[in-house]
Amino acid sequence: MTTPKATTHVTQNEALIFERSQTGRCGYRLPALDVDETPIDELIPSNLRRDDDLAGVPEVSEPDVVRHFTRISTWNYNIDLGMYPLGSCTMKYNSRLNERVARIAGFANLHPLASERDAQGALEVIYELQQHLAEITGLPGISLQPAAGAHGEMTGVMIIRAYLDARDGEASSKRRVMLIPDSAHGTNPASAHLSGFTVKTVRSTPEGQTDLDALRDLCSAGDVAGLMLTNPNTVGLFEKNIREICRIVHDAGGLVYMDGANMNALVGWARPGDMGVDVIHLNLHKTFSTPHGGGGPGSGPCCCTKELEPFLPVPRVVRGGDGFKVDYDQPESIGRVKAFYGNFGMHLRALAYILTHGRDGLREATEAAVLNARVIAEGLTSDYERPFSDPPMHEVVFTDKRQGRKGVNTLDIAKRLIDYGFHPMTIYFPLIVQGAMLIEPTESVGRQEIQQFVEAMRAIAREAQEDPELVRTAPHTTKIGRLDEAAAARKPILRWKPEEKSATA
Ligand SMILES: *Cc1c(COP(=O)(O)O)cnc(C)c1O
Repeated sequence: MTTPKATTHVTQNEALIFERSQTGRCGYRLPALDVDETPIDELIPSNLRRDDDLAGVPEVSEPDVVRHFTRISTWNYNIDLGMYPLGSCTMKYNSRLNERVARIAGFANLHPLASERDAQGALEVIYELQQHLAEITGLPGISLQPAAGAHGEMTGVMIIRAYLDARDGEASSKRRVMLIPDSAHGTNPASAHLSGFTVKTVRSTPEGQTDLDALRDLCSAGDVAGLMLTNPNTVGLFEKNIREICRIVHDAGGLVYMDGANMNALVGWARPGDMGVDVIHLNLHKTFSTPHGGGGPGSGPCCCTKELEPFLPVPRVVRGGDGFKVDYDQPESIGRVKAFYGNFGMHLRALAYILTHGRDGLREATEAAVLNARVIAEGLTSDYERPFSDPPMHEVVFTDKRQGRKGVNTLDIAKRLIDYGFHPMTIYFPLIVQGAMLIEPTESVGRQEIQQFVEAMRAIAREAQEDPELVRTAPHTTKIGRLDEAAAARKPILRWKPEEKSATA
């Protein structure tokens, strides 16, 4: 017999709020209504009023509510609790100061339809952020409109298409192939496809770099519109041949799109514009201090060369004779991709992030992000298989090859990490690495926490040798263990229903 759960752990066995309900219990009391109720009946038509008596709403006290939600909040892992070593998605601590800036009432309460004259300060924020991002990427044309990385990708790819149409006229329809490396993030082919391109895959070499011969081969057909490249790529390596890669694509009449989601490895040190890249998106919610995850608002600015600038979305925020203005007069623009000017709160956070770091601070953050990844690479090489030997940039990939001999796989290792108090790393991505574990510590962990993480991973490697079953059945310290993830996705139960009272009761 199992022990009744409710007695084992108050916090972990919290019931549903509905199950805490007791008839008549209430968190507040309002004074009796001292006005006539009839006019309300007349004011709100009966078809807009509910006709039940709020049946099923939990009846609970204030401490019931506070404790319930506080307890369930402790089941969630979050960036303020500890390290979040996801690879590819930079998940770093976001400074409270930037949150504060985003809440400044004059900005937060500004109506998006406010006149240009009344919104000069906000337009200046947008303009100034554009200038900084232009300096950081080496690409002068910028739109802050896109609301996510994938949205920025699509904007960039649409710009490439519009540019080719303007340059080649009718002949442009023959250039509809977008080249994408096999290590790429899944959003890249999706963006290319949505913008009317056919995707062809570029092989990676065994060292994890883009295969130049394969690229030359694909470019020789004359139908290439461009290449979408992530640098550092999704195995965490800097594409050493980036200049040559850009030259090959340009010589074939195509353009180079860079997925800038991994900018955390480059800011202040290397500029895509200097490498030959034509257009890039940034993820403000990865590199530039916006809380990331949970589907909250994001921002994926699109930055491009002077040549591509006329095709950027409208409106553009520009500097006029007497202040800043919103410019719709861009006849070659691909049009609008987002209401108003993008997610302005993210622009404020990003500008605060850039200004509080300053030039040196941004360089230091990049150095620390790369150093931390390298410390992990060094620390785990004796216990885990590393498929690529080059020093990693901001993220490093390992595999479960050694643990696999004992029947312990990547999923098991990730689940066991939860027992050690860490959020799991990215698993089974990139797809080209079998049993991949992609780890990105970011700059926002100190030496001590990095060491704890390394020790946890090494302890798991030992367990995999000595007690594989312990790892295979992890996690052991959470409210629930392994979910039936397919059932959870396919047959989600989204609504609580009171238990049917049995007829005999
Ligand atoms: C996160 C990410 C994206 C997509 O960004 P979203 O904001 O999630 O749409 C694209 N490419 C890479 C490499 C990423 O890491």
